[in-house]
Amino acid sequence: MAAPLYRATWEQVSALDADHIAGWGAFEGYAGPITFDDTEPTKLHVEHDAERDTFSAFYVWKRQEDEAGPIRSTVRLERRPCRFGGTRAYFVCPRCTRRTLRLAVLAGGLSCGTCGRITWGSRRETETRRLVRKANKVARRLGLDYFGDTPKRPPHMRAATYARIMAELEPMKAEINRRVAVRMARAKGPLGAWGAILRWGL
Ligand SMILES: [Zn+2]
Repeated sequence: MAAPLYRATWEQVSALDADHIAGWGAFEGYAGPITFDDTEPTKLHVEHDAERDTFSAFYVWKRQEDEAGPIRSTVRLERRPCRFGGTRAYFVCPRCTRRTLRLAVLAGGLSCGTCGRITWGSRRETETRRLVRKANKVARRLGLDYFGDTPKRPPHMRAATYARIMAELEPMKAEINRRVAVRMARAKGPLGAWGAILRWGL
């Protein structure tokens, strides 16, 4: 039997999204709780050290309280300038020291998805990826690199052909938009739908 490649999916673990928590001031000297509805641990106490620009999480891992005591994990933040001004805060994974926007809260401390072997595993995610691939393929017939680009009838393409391709592409775009919007509403992230698609590497 082949060993499973991944231990868990992002849907199964408590995770910190840098953009999301930066949005409510977590990286401005915040000290207090962060809670999770459906994943373990359900509660973290976090602290941003403004002087060192580090972010610490304290939490108890289920059923390991007696043996290990509470877990304390501290990560460095890296502020990178944004293209349109301001800065964006990234976590620096304490295991691999790479920049990441998302940390998993694990028994061994905070970790990036690669080190924690966490993946986007939901069927819904897989379906969305497939849909994006399909939409990109249709968009390429119009000479576009990416389905989100504004379509224009290529010279020499018959109007009827163009209309047929558009009739195929438009419902796909609408469906991708709907799925991404649902996900973004859930994550309460500040990014637009297309930003999310780029960010997930779809
Ligand atoms: Zn890592």
